[in-house]
Amino acid sequence: MFSCTGYAAMAADVSLKPFAFERRDTGPEDVRIEILYCGVCHSDLHQARNEWQNTIYPCIPGHEIVGRVAEVGASVTRFRKGELVGVGCLVDSCRECASCKKGLEQYCEVGFVGTYNGEDRQGRGITFGGYSRAIVVDQGFVLKIPETLDPAAAAPLLCAGITTWSPLRHWKVGPGQRVGIVGLGGLGHMGVKFAKALGAEVVLFTTSQSKVADGIRLGAHEVVLSKDPAAMAKERGRFDFILDAVAADHDINAYLDLLKLDGTLVQVGAPETPLPVSVFSLLMKRRNFAGSLIGGIPETQEMLDFCGEHGITSDIEMIRMEEIEVAYERMLRSDVKYRFVIDMASMPAGA
Ligand code: NAP
Ligand code: ZN
Ligand code: ZN
Repeated sequence: MFSCTGYAAMAADVSLKPFAFERRDTGPEDVRIEILYCGVCHSDLHQARNEWQNTIYPCIPGHEIVGRVAEVGASVTRFRKGELVGVGCLVDSCRECASCKKGLEQYCEVGFVGTYNGEDRQGRGITFGGYSRAIVVDQGFVLKIPETLDPAAAAPLLCAGITTWSPLRHWKVGPGQRVGIVGLGGLGHMGVKFAKALGAEVVLFTTSQSKVADGIRLGAHEVVLSKDPAAMAKERGRFDFILDAVAADHDINAYLDLLKLDGTLVQVGAPETPLPVSVFSLLMKRRNFAGSLIGGIPETQEMLDFCGEHGITSDIEMIRMEEIEVAYERMLRSDVKYRFVIDMASMPAGA
């Protein structure tokens, strides 16, 4: 074991603070990573504050991790010391079930092991995430980051990137389709970039007047202010596909109404309370309402390679570790442009 410093939530209603803990030594299949940057996902906030009622404390969030390989285990063949690597939301799964065999580890039938707040399969306790100086991860769950990408701006690809990429690919979004992205936060802004890169006609729906110009700059063909009923009414029945990345309670029926016959609304945002669905909106036009969870390891690598080829990264605002609570409060006000990333050099040396 070696000692490590992180930032942990000790309970739902207190600020994150420095926390000393131990990480396992590098086993034969393990990669030890010195963390350079960690993106701040809205899920970190949901989890730190126990909004999904499943948080185990202390909780060290962070699942958009980019760093350099510091050490590899004896059986590790895919990575070498010094390489730029990433870790997303998953650090293990059963590897035997039908989902795992298809590379869909996020849908592992016995449950994947989350990068934080997950129960280790070898009985080594609850996992601690990327708000920390180092992490040790099985090589099967480590991703290669193209060296051409800015490592800080690549960090959000590990969750915000793959979570939007996976449904866009699964539902075969591409040229000739009119695609809506709802909410311009961390996920939403990656959704806009990817839908554009895949050739779709992209319409951004935002509640924030201040994000309209950015929506166009990021690749949207049109931006609709979702608080304007007349603007929403004009869009009725015009969409093949809509990706909803809103973190809070909101009216999804307003978006179901925008789908064409057989159109699909995929929910990736995970508000803490259930969202009522209008059955009539679904059945009147044989519309589909679906969900999607992050993405599997092979698909995450495919997305990273695509980003390397096309020069796609996240638009980020770098913060110091001690600014995390300010970042959370700004996320709650939708004041995020468009992902906070923690510079891990700012982590206090001892706790
Ligand atoms: P984020 O950066 O905070 O962005 C959320 C955006 O939603 C806001 O910037 C805002 O955009 C919009 N919004 C917020 N409150 C709203 C409201 N009351 N009504 C309408 N729109 C509102 O969050 P994120 O990190 O992108 O995460 C989004 C959600 O996805 C979270 O719930 C997160 O837990 C979840 N998530 C799911 C997965 C998955 O696998 N399915 C993976 C990662 C994250 P505008 O200002 O443009 O309106
Ligand atoms: Zn996330
Ligand atoms: Zn499995």
